[in-house]
Amino acid sequence: MNIADYKGVWVFAEQREGELQKVSLELLGEGRRIADKLGVKLTALLLGNNIESLATTLASHGADEVLVADDKNLEHYTTEGYAKVICDLAAERKPGILFVGATFIGRDLGPRIAARLSTGLTADCTSIDVEVENGDLLATRPAFGGNLMATIACPEHRPQMATVRPGVFAKITTDPSKCNIEKVEVKLADSDIRTKVLEVIKAKKDMVDIAEAEFIVSGGRGVGSKENFKLLEELAAALEGTVAGSRAAVESGWIDGACQVGQTGKTVRPKIYIACGISGAIQHVAGMQDSELIIAVNKDETAPIMKVADYAIVGDVAKVVPELIAQVKEVKS
Ligand code: FAD
Repeated sequence: MNIADYKGVWVFAEQREGELQKVSLELLGEGRRIADKLGVKLTALLLGNNIESLATTLASHGADEVLVADDKNLEHYTTEGYAKVICDLAAERKPGILFVGATFIGRDLGPRIAARLSTGLTADCTSIDVEVENGDLLATRPAFGGNLMATIACPEHRPQMATVRPGVFAKITTDPSKCNIEKVEVKLADSDIRTKVLEVIKAKKDMVDIAEAEFIVSGGRGVGSKENFKLLEELAAALEGTVAGSRAAVESGWIDGACQVGQTGKTVRPKIYIACGISGAIQHVAGMQDSELIIAVNKDETAPIMKVADYAIVGDVAKVVPELIAQVKEVKS
């Protein structure tokens, strides 16, 4: 492998049922920064069936180039189908870096591509940078149960790969007219995909991914019980948002582990984050500090969360939350 032959930053633009995942647009934002630092092109990889129209969205979120692989065999995500198309393209065009969102699909796809291309992948990164002199990617992620942050490089193999958590980076908007959209040939034989998707059944229809939510009502130990969490659900419903929680709330069995915010949970960046009965431990704050507006409800005015909050409400969750619900309903009526 001649490392100098590998150039450019690629982002896997994940779409589901024709809808681009937020993390892919966020990755284009950060990918733009990295590509500019290296002076190379930023390419979005768009795979699916009848998805060509999504290319313009990628063009207006930072991409210099969109490679569109549109084929009926890519209608549903399959590890084999998607991995083959991306590996063929990577072998032919030799990108230096390939970013994938750390979604359920990205966590499945990324390692498969890395193994096939005999390269390294840093999973679940929370920040990324690059060394301009040699093009080495520096991917940082929590290690040893979140007790330290490790920065990992892959200097001897290309493309350098990383999966990145949703909600970590901000989206950008750019002039789409400068972007080149190219339809690539898809070489997929039936035998390339050994699994067949017969039907897609969504397990939990009303469960929202907190990393994608615009309004989050989050509860901690101070909420007191699973029963009290229903109040938070009511407030979230009034805001057309979703509920989340601290690790203490998850460990108490009041909310599903998929809804944990923080260093060992998910990173969120909603428009409004309402923290109810959460103390604001550093590991929690790491996952929500980039929210646009933070409101904290805590009976202890000295709780660390009150310093992170834009609005700090000192009071009992059981009294304040019903009042917030009433006010939101009144504003909406
Ligand atoms: P507490 O710290 O117990 O705080 C409860 C708060 O509720 C207090 O501030 C109290 O004043 C307030 N309160 C009590 N009763 C009421 C009431 N009636 N009305 C209003 N306020 C009230 N934590 C995470 O959240 N996410 C993570 O990803 C995470 N990862 C971790 C990783 C590691 C390696 C470690 C060591 C810890 C991690 N933690 C994480 C745990 C973290 O350190 C805290 O222990 C946890 O966030 C505390 O949760 P809490 O704020 O809900 O509970």
